[in-house]
Amino acid sequence: MKLLKIAVALSSFVSIVTTSSIVQAEEIVIYSARNEQYIKPLFDLYTKQTGVQIKFVTDKEGPLMERLKAEAANTPADMLITVDAGNLWQAANAGLLQTINSPILNANIPAHLRDPKNQWFGLSVRARTIFFNSQKVKAGELSTYEDLATAKWKGRLCLRTSKKVYNQSLVAMMMDEYGEAKTEAVVKGWIANLATDVFADDTKMLEAIGAGQCDVGIANTYYYGRLIEKKPNLPIALFWANQAGKGVHVNVAGAGITKHAKNPVGAQKFLEWLSSDKAQNLFTDLDLEFPANPAVKPDAKLVSWGSFKQNLINVTKAGELQADAVRLMDRAGYK
Ligand code: FE
Repeated sequence: MKLLKIAVALSSFVSIVTTSSIVQAEEIVIYSARNEQYIKPLFDLYTKQTGVQIKFVTDKEGPLMERLKAEAANTPADMLITVDAGNLWQAANAGLLQTINSPILNANIPAHLRDPKNQWFGLSVRARTIFFNSQKVKAGELSTYEDLATAKWKGRLCLRTSKKVYNQSLVAMMMDEYGEAKTEAVVKGWIANLATDVFADDTKMLEAIGAGQCDVGIANTYYYGRLIEKKPNLPIALFWANQAGKGVHVNVAGAGITKHAKNPVGAQKFLEWLSSDKAQNLFTDLDLEFPANPAVKPDAKLVSWGSFKQNLINVTKAGELQADAVRLMDRAGYK
């Protein structure tokens, strides 16, 4: 009897210790496909403000999604953070994410920057627009992505490879807006106008514009921001595409809560915080992307590029039409 009492006392003692240690160390586990330098300061600030510990694993989105699939219900991950709506759509489509019911996120993030089924939310906006060599081209000669397929740009255009999801998303959104036949004609026109082989990344393509190897090209603005910060004398200028039409192609970096999250409540609170003023400012200062929350003013450097109209097509289209876009680019000879 005495032994039993001791055992009962001991087990309740153990459970108190266990419970209190869980409370003390609330933890969120994140699988992140973002470069650590652009995301870790946000984790650190959240921990400082709330005491919630954030553990994270950084890898490319492909391996992280494979890992989530393989781990299934045993995954330690509460949240997946990655770039490009095409990637977020893939994760939702593979059943790796769960629906989030959050009035805060719905209020902070515009409808075109989030999944209509609320399985993921864009947290920053990346604009993919036209850049030109300011010694060879005048801004007045530029207008739209489609115009870069016309004969006046023959031998003057540079592009990044079609293997990159950014270009797959751009073409997918064009397919949604213009239909397949017109988009294919545009992509064929681009390829006919290439000054040189496609580039492995946006920065190399921008450097080729700066060096005069090409006159115009298409890139994400943050690559331009980072390059110009290092080499301010390069004769490269930004042009906001399609402003007389539907607007410039935008994409997101964003996040969703994993299907088998152990701490979905904590993960949702963190996601809501990421959409708030404080976090949105830090986001854009770190990586030169635009805030997804329209109430937050972008970094001064971004403001200096001028305001622009975003295309309001839901970024989910980038995922839904991704496979079609890849096939179209293949047919058009876009390597
Ligand atoms: Fe990028």
